[in-house]
Amino acid sequence: MSNDNLKKQYQTTKEKLENVSPAFCLAKWFQVTLHLQNGHNHSCHHPNTHQTTLEELKDNPSTLHNTHFKKKIRKLMLEGVRPKECEYCWKIEDTPGEHFSDRHIKSNDEWAKPFFDEAIDAGCEKNINPKYLEVSFSNSCNFKCAYCLPHISSSWMKELKQYGEYQTTSKHHAFAYLEQLGKMPIIDTSLNPYVKAFWEWWPSLYKDLKTFRITGGEPFMVPDTYRVLEYVADNPNPELSLAINSNLGVEQRLIDKAALSIGKIMDSKNVKDITIYTSLDTWGEQAEYIRYGLNMDLFLRNLYYILEKLPEVQLTFMCTYNLLSITSFRSFLEFILELKNKFKKSHSKYDSRIVLDISYLKDPQFMCANLADQDLLDRMKSDLNFMMANSPNCVASESIGFTDFELNKMLRLTNWAKGGVSQDFKKIQLKDIYIFFSEYDRRRGTNFLKTFPEYENLWLAGKALASQ
Ligand code: SF4
Repeated sequence: MSNDNLKKQYQTTKEKLENVSPAFCLAKWFQVTLHLQNGHNHSCHHPNTHQTTLEELKDNPSTLHNTHFKKKIRKLMLEGVRPKECEYCWKIEDTPGEHFSDRHIKSNDEWAKPFFDEAIDAGCEKNINPKYLEVSFSNSCNFKCAYCLPHISSSWMKELKQYGEYQTTSKHHAFAYLEQLGKMPIIDTSLNPYVKAFWEWWPSLYKDLKTFRITGGEPFMVPDTYRVLEYVADNPNPELSLAINSNLGVEQRLIDKAALSIGKIMDSKNVKDITIYTSLDTWGEQAEYIRYGLNMDLFLRNLYYILEKLPEVQLTFMCTYNLLSITSFRSFLEFILELKNKFKKSHSKYDSRIVLDISYLKDPQFMCANLADQDLLDRMKSDLNFMMANSPNCVASESIGFTDFELNKMLRLTNWAKGGVSQDFKKIQLKDIYIFFSEYDRRRGTNFLKTFPEYENLWLAGKALASQ
């Protein structure tokens, strides 16, 4: 669809929302991410998560989504009061000029717009099934990426139990902080009341889903993932887009098991489409350093195995672009280009099974790309130019290049990183870089300077600040 047509659609949806109230948003009714390992959820992904209490869960498993707290937020929205937790959208809507916020964009989506009247009918009292569900059953994961957290990765949890907290200014990973937020995970999934409630709710929930995504931890390590996949293979939902996240760094036995389950769903033609989302933030040993646990050889073997074994599956690379992504990023982009052309869907220039989705890391702040110095910013700009030169308008006619979606993400990231940070803030972050990664090297047997010689200046500046 052209940009103009899309804008017209957003405008129509915006007007329809305004007719109810200037704060109404369908995502609060129809979109949810469930973190079953600790009972947290949010609708949509912008507001902080909140917890379903065990008390409210007793009455109805759908309170995993329809919490008392969320119903209060829905009430505010219907009454035209902007909930504070949605300030991400209010900021955009209050910027001078005509803008579409995620409130308009999400409410226009195919999992939301056709169900407008259903939300109105449910109001703020009735329970409602989401159409877009993302679920994490457990924090089990064999990776402990530098920017990850213990309630999302069991390997991170194990390390912190063994060695304690990192002595950085940011305490985002500290157990005391997570306990205070009620985010510490329930380790034994078989005793987890939130997982139990999910399975009670699932048959009624499944039939209403338009998008369903399994996330983690590492979903291929979790038995509930296979239970869901078996259910989908036996129960048609032809309007469903099914998605599964995986680090593609698990052993062959699990990749085989996953490929078998997904293959059965493809054969059954029970769903509209299937996408596997995997993660890579840059290339080679720098990528292995950031995503600790990643082995590039194993990753590539698993990746090709999935793409060849499951020819109808789409594959999206989620790139959490961070300060350490910059210096090997060109090799990553070259690989993506090669892969896009190897796994074409058709002869269309735009049509590959491979998508690159770049988002920028916001936490921990000492790993953010807006700390980049001029040399690193120049590299980012050069990578953006490389992507532009390899967009469909520029490349040879039979090649698939980077799409507008991919280019816009890189453009947005580069503009954001250029904005930089204040000198005082930068000093704190440089110090944290040194404190965090020198301890990371000590615990994990890695070597920051050997892996990232291009970052020596930042490292030395952090070291000097840490010793003051
Ligand atoms: S108003 Fe914005 S932040 Fe709030 S739920 Fe809707 S899209 Fe998300």
